Amino acid sequence: MRILVVAEHDQGALKGVTLSAVGFARALKDAEPEILLMGHQVGSLAEQLRRYGPVWVADHEALRLAAADRYAEIIRRVAAERQASMVVAAASTFSKDILPRAAALLDGTMGTDVVGVQEENGQLLFLRPVNAGSVVATVALMGEPKVLTLRASAFKSPEPGEPQEVHPIAVDPTSLPNLIEVVRRDSKTSSRPDVTEARVVVSGGRGVKNAEDFERIIGGLADVLHGGVGCSRALVDAGVTSNDLQVGQTGKIAAPDVYFAVGISGAVQHLAGMKDSKVVVVINKDPDAPAFEVADYGLVADLYQAVPELIQKLQPSP
Ligand SMILES: Cc1cc2nc3c(=O)[nH]c(=O)nc-3n(C[C@H](O)[C@H](O)[C@H](O)COP(=O)(O)OP(=O)(O)OC[C@H]3O[C@@H](n4cnc5c(N)ncnc54)[C@H](O)[C@@H]3O)c2cc1C
Repeated sequence: MRILVVAEHDQGALKGVTLSAVGFARALKDAEPEILLMGHQVGSLAEQLRRYGPVWVADHEALRLAAADRYAEIIRRVAAERQASMVVAAASTFSKDILPRAAALLDGTMGTDVVGVQEENGQLLFLRPVNAGSVVATVALMGEPKVLTLRASAFKSPEPGEPQEVHPIAVDPTSLPNLIEVVRRDSKTSSRPDVTEARVVVSGGRGVKNAEDFERIIGGLADVLHGGVGCSRALVDAGVTSNDLQVGQTGKIAAPDVYFAVGISGAVQHLAGMKDSKVVVVINKDPDAPAFEVADYGLVADLYQAVPELIQKLQPSP
């Protein structure tokens, strides 16, 4: 069973979630995972990826920014040529834009946010959370290729192996669709890891009063722990934080080793984005906050007192 794994990268760096998607593919019976890498000047990424499987590389100026129509068309061509039974990528903003188009072009069948797979009578069944994770649906996808986005936190990255072949793909921009033009990409440069990749995530909620406090308290704790920062939707709605930090049903999925929920009540929509974290620490002044129900460690305290104290204690000694 040939599985095409679509690689994701950002500003010259491979997204770790790509390797989780390779991990999913490798775990399937009789699977032959191959990796598709698209972009411009991505040679060094191909070198990294070839340790995880053969890599098909579409490298062209026309693919510098991820225009969904062009990327989907490249996926269609490679999947058809390689006769892939499955096309997969980690569930992310990138794949949400591109993979449904590729599924339509391939006349395939699509499953999103897959967290597991089972085999029953020779048929693969896919598990996907619905209703903010309160229900896990088991779905059979009829037809091929099956196009899947995968929740990266559910699948382990494999160990790198012997380098495999890298196959360049000829790209003729005039043969690609040109309906979408990515004018520019504005991104905040942050020295902190993204919540989807960080091993420690410190998230703040409405208990944090303003942007300055968020940076000092939530950012401060994240920095001493070399972690990423996240937030609840309440802070995004209040304009305190930007929505790329939002964790939850309509935000990002975080499943770090340690997740701090600070001044967050624990609404089901927030929990949907962090409940797979290995260890959950809750800091809230309300002992009845629902977040304590999912906590491994809970501290009933005012965050304005407790967190600065924690930061001070965790500071490396000079
Ligand atoms: C369709 C839909 C999708 C949604 N998607 C998301 C999503 O993706 N992510 C998300 O987060 N939410 C989402 N929400 C919103 C969600 O329902 C909640 O409204 C939101 O998570 C609440 O955020 P909060 O916990 O920060 O705020 P609140 O619920 O107001 O809780 C604030 C908490 O801070 C505590 N607190 C206050 N002051 C302090 C202090 N000084 N020290 C310590 N603790 C303090 C309070 O005790 C309280 O528990 C969604 C809602 C809907 C309807």
